[in-house]
Amino acid sequence: IKWTEGRGWHDAQLVPYAPLSMDPANMTLHYAQTIFEGLKAYRQPDGTVATFRPDANARRFQASARRLGMPELPVETFVAACDALVKQDKDWVPTNAEESLYLRPFMIASEVGLGVRPANEYLFIVIASPAGAYFTGGVKPVSVWLSQEYVRAVRGGTGAAKTGGNYAASLVAQAQAAQHGCDQVVWLDALERRWIEEMGGMNLYFVYGNKIVTPELSGSLLPGITRDSLLKIATDLGYEAAEGRISVDDWKAATEDGSLTEVFACGTAAVITPVGSVKSETASWTVGDGKPGEVTMKLRKALLDLQTGATPDTHGWMHPLG
Ligand code: PMP
Repeated sequence: IKWTEGRGWHDAQLVPYAPLSMDPANMTLHYAQTIFEGLKAYRQPDGTVATFRPDANARRFQASARRLGMPELPVETFVAACDALVKQDKDWVPTNAEESLYLRPFMIASEVGLGVRPANEYLFIVIASPAGAYFTGGVKPVSVWLSQEYVRAVRGGTGAAKTGGNYAASLVAQAQAAQHGCDQVVWLDALERRWIEEMGGMNLYFVYGNKIVTPELSGSLLPGITRDSLLKIATDLGYEAAEGRISVDDWKAATEDGSLTEVFACGTAAVITPVGSVKSETASWTVGDGKPGEVTMKLRKALLDLQTGATPDTHGWMHPLG
């Protein structure tokens, strides 16, 4: 779908996957007005297909567009575009419950010009790809590196938007995590380098027995849809679920005194991933017993069962596509 100043959204098309041809002076290539989303279509027990909360992705896409000075795509248009592609590619939606069809809606500036200003032309596209099970051979806890040198986002910046620049800025920290033998980077706040924000492409949850706490939306972390869903699912399961502020020192101290029993990360790609160990420039520790925790695995199953239709959709989150 194209957007042109003065004309709005026009020319929706469903076309076979193909390269885009682009002018070297395309504004996106220089000034990075790009936003994207990620969601999945799941096979249901009766053979039909459904997406999970596409309207939530559509609203986050609008928020990202506002932050990047781009036009907002109506929620219905976003959802209809995803629906059209999933219906076209229905046979590509895997039948195995741990697999899915991953959808990647995105928007880029398409105007040609070298002036720094919001573009007058944009392109909204959705592509899809089958996504295998994130873990083959069972859920494995990840090790995390607390990044004290680099930050992902600052307050007033673009951290709460799903824009390419945030991911570009994260690459060296992810490489640094790998150099320290860790699977993922955990971001701290930019101001004090003290408060836990989020992990690579996932939000974090801290489990204190019957209570689960996720870092509050500070303005510099992504408001994950899985994060939001888990606040409600955990409550349904009888846990106390809250948003709060957790510092690196709190994390370490609560691990040492045994009150923090599990930590997990959550997002569309990996659903729920246990965090097994933590490392920083000055310290390292094991979370719980380093193995996937009971609460983590219970929430993981509840979320997957909901998405794959194994349990009733009491929140009206599933979007059936026939
Ligand atoms: N944080 C970041 C930086 C992400 O890229 C993602 C993945 N979209 C998430 C958190 C989790 O968000 P969601 O649950 O909507 O996939």
